[in-house]
Amino acid sequence: MQACQAADTGVPAESYTFAVHWTAAQVCSGSSGCIGGDYTTETVHEQIAFMNKLFAHAGVAFTWDGVIHNATAGSYDEVDEDGWICALPRYGDGMTFHVITSPRHLFGGGVLGYTNYLSSFSKQYGGFPQCLNRVHIFEKTLPGLGGRSVVDGGLSDSGAVLAHEVGHQLMLHHTWFEATWERQEAAAQCHGSASMDPTDIAAFRSDGVRDTTAQSLNYTGQIIRFVGCHPATGLYTNSSINAQQSCTSAVGFPAGDAYYNNYNNLMSYGDKTCLRTITAGQAARARCAVKCMVLGQC
Ligand SMILES: [Zn+2]
Repeated sequence: MQACQAADTGVPAESYTFAVHWTAAQVCSGSSGCIGGDYTTETVHEQIAFMNKLFAHAGVAFTWDGVIHNATAGSYDEVDEDGWICALPRYGDGMTFHVITSPRHLFGGGVLGYTNYLSSFSKQYGGFPQCLNRVHIFEKTLPGLGGRSVVDGGLSDSGAVLAHEVGHQLMLHHTWFEATWERQEAAAQCHGSASMDPTDIAAFRSDGVRDTTAQSLNYTGQIIRFVGCHPATGLYTNSSINAQQSCTSAVGFPAGDAYYNNYNNLMSYGDKTCLRTITAGQAARARCAVKCMVLGQC
């Protein structure tokens, strides 16, 4: 993967197209009827178009058959469960993106989306368990539906949530050192974030991409959302004491909110209305993931 990524700097000869299969989960209870799936095919088309625009320079495209399948669950929690997900009808080959929307934030109400990396299921390509090739999102993160982060209330309905999760499936890590469980000092975090050592990449310390700024988090390991981000200027309102900061100024964690703002990288945790940049290095890594794990040309 790393060797492929380093060698893969040119324009892709041909775009690889992933099929997208779409399921809207509805939660039904006896007395109050069903909730969920109240969006149109136009909204999904807009979502797919958003991703195609973002990933075009990575040589990755998405095609959708225009059908929203409905699936009924008995509770919100059931939509998050492997058993329920794996019992859904499977379509296409193991590389089809199975998008499943939930009427509520995921995992008890706090999460906008999740997925699995290609490395977690590509070895099973063509066989079970294909139910790993899925992407879950809160349905209100679709373009224009008004979904918000429960952490800070930031608007999250630009289409970037699904694009971010698809980025993960294409092996893109977050842009910062994942300090949640290590709580190291700023200098150590920045060193790890900038590292190209496969050990650091595999441990999520580094995103394994040279042209994303090395970043650290507040030592508490909590993740900042840049709320109220202005797409053109990067100005934002930061209501949290926790912050990402660039390693060029990582001599400590300064007070205030004058931190480096990686506000628009798709794989950061900024205001979701601003997340739309995939760097050339990230594009090379995603393309390499396709070559290695989908096409078997590593
Ligand atoms: Zn993420």
